[in-house]
Amino acid sequence: MAVSQAYRFALDPSPAQERCLRSHAGAARFAWNWGLARCKERYEAARKWYSSVDLHRLWNAAKKADPGLAWWAENSKCVYQESFRDLERGLKDFVRSRKGERKGKRLGFPRFKKRGRCRDSFRFSTGAIRCAGRTVTLPRLGAIRTYESTRKLARRVENGTARIVSATVSRTAQRWFVSFTVVVDRAIAPRHPWPGSAIGVDLGVRTLVTGVDDRGSVIEICGPKPLSSSLRRLRRASRAHSRTQDGSENRRKSAGRLARIHARVAYVRADALHKATSELSVRYETVVAEDLNVAGMTRSRRLARAVADQGFGQARRMLAYKTEWNGGRLILADRWYPSSKLCSGCGTVKAKLALSERVFTCEACGLRTDRDVNAARNLLDLAASGAESINACGGTIRPGTAGHVPVNQEPGTAHAGQTGTASGQPLAAGRVSAHAHCPATALPRLAGHPLL
Ligand SMILES: [Zn+2]
Repeated sequence: MAVSQAYRFALDPSPAQERCLRSHAGAARFAWNWGLARCKERYEAARKWYSSVDLHRLWNAAKKADPGLAWWAENSKCVYQESFRDLERGLKDFVRSRKGERKGKRLGFPRFKKRGRCRDSFRFSTGAIRCAGRTVTLPRLGAIRTYESTRKLARRVENGTARIVSATVSRTAQRWFVSFTVVVDRAIAPRHPWPGSAIGVDLGVRTLVTGVDDRGSVIEICGPKPLSSSLRRLRRASRAHSRTQDGSENRRKSAGRLARIHARVAYVRADALHKATSELSVRYETVVAEDLNVAGMTRSRRLARAVADQGFGQARRMLAYKTEWNGGRLILADRWYPSSKLCSGCGTVKAKLALSERVFTCEACGLRTDRDVNAARNLLDLAASGAESINACGGTIRPGTAGHVPVNQEPGTAHAGQTGTASGQPLAAGRVSAHAHCPATALPRLAGHPLL
């Protein structure tokens, strides 16, 4: 099966190459702004925009006619063309978003890009794009050293199982990266090695993943140590940044420092998420996670929370393709499914649960369990109860059709007592007893598993 995949490498350019990278990024920005200005002009006059093909034609005429644009030849012509394509996509997305045909938050009209205020980025889709050993070769730029070996991708290209479609170069906090979009011929497992295995997962920050599997084991994957120390540094740096004067040299410096720490947190987290999601998709056929409305999420003031929000989307994307590669599937619970407010013992939904409450306590049945474990167990239940109505990879299930079936309709009648067993409910009692020895120790199947 052919899948589109990205391979990203950090670049180590020579000073001359770095100048060339900056020049290309500037050219991409110029082309975007130039194209946007043409589109705006035409829209004023004729209520119409230009397509990227039209823009490219206009640009070819303009660059020859205007001696002020003679510098264009210093950069690959591909970069201009790709900017026009980006602009066309931006305009189309804007229209679709306004019509409500596009998921996510509403997009504004494309804006002019300002140096230092936008992301430096440009793309090549034709010309000499290659990688070998610890270098990548790009049009105009030649062979640039990379920090990591490109061996894995190079080998795939060599034996014909991968084809590089484009190369996007971008800068994050003073470091340049190249990301290759690659069509890879990948062997997809027809069946998962552990048929019938399932896990409900709750994603967090300190504990990256809290999961409960079909055997009742609680699996916790902690975030790497560098992550919490980076978070601490990030908090300190952002406080220091907010104390600097607007427009001052110190503010510029602290912004750079802040950006570097942000970038580091993102790498460390992405790396940890890659490892965790790989393990989950190899070990479990069905992975159930929450479908948070990431785009619509309010900007949280709490730093750790904000970082986690960033990671949720990333983790779900990783889980979606990794489960597919392994012959499994990812199920996303509808975002209205109250996985954290629902009692996994008796099905009573709490009216309120503050984020600071780390222990879930049920007033109806007396269940006391870790908040994340409770959520993960509810997600797992979703997989079991809605087996028929579950959509495959990437789908969502609504609580109305496949959600948790409350076993206890009248909270008052089944009072639990000290042990926390719901009377007269064998299913619930079974579940509650599973809580009793949680966090569960490794079960035979997972003994010695790297997750634990
Ligand atoms: Zn309960």
